[in-house]
Amino acid sequence: MEILRKAPTVKAGSDRFTGDAWFDVIARGEPPSRVRVNVVRFAPGARNAWHAHAVGQTVHVTEGIGRIQSRGGAVVEIRAGDTVHTTAGEWHWHGAAPDHFMTHLAIWEAPAEGPESEWGEQVTDAEYLVQPAEPTR
Ligand code: MN
Repeated sequence: MEILRKAPTVKAGSDRFTGDAWFDVIARGEPPSRVRVNVVRFAPGARNAWHAHAVGQTVHVTEGIGRIQSRGGAVVEIRAGDTVHTTAGEWHWHGAAPDHFMTHLAIWEAPAEGPESEWGEQVTDAEYLVQPAEPTR
């Protein structure tokens, strides 16, 4: 057993995020484990850039109201209790609603080799500020 003292909260970089977001590393598996778990807190209006995870990702909203979009799909509203899985290599972004904070757990794995995630362009206001669809629950 290993007790992990709480690591400092890290401000998300403006190269991969628009607006203010912070993350705490909860789990970073030692090989052979490749698990990764972060808590990510988004201020209203904050979202990450378009990106894709090599082995996919599960996002579980713990607080607030947010938005998520898969490339080519609608912007969907997500709320506390919602869980969204993106498949390996699926381009997407996630963040807070314009007028609400949103906190989620992000759970993913590193691939056996190569980068964990691929990052693309920032999500523009035109992409972000649309009326979101209701999720299919
Ligand atoms: Mn993601």
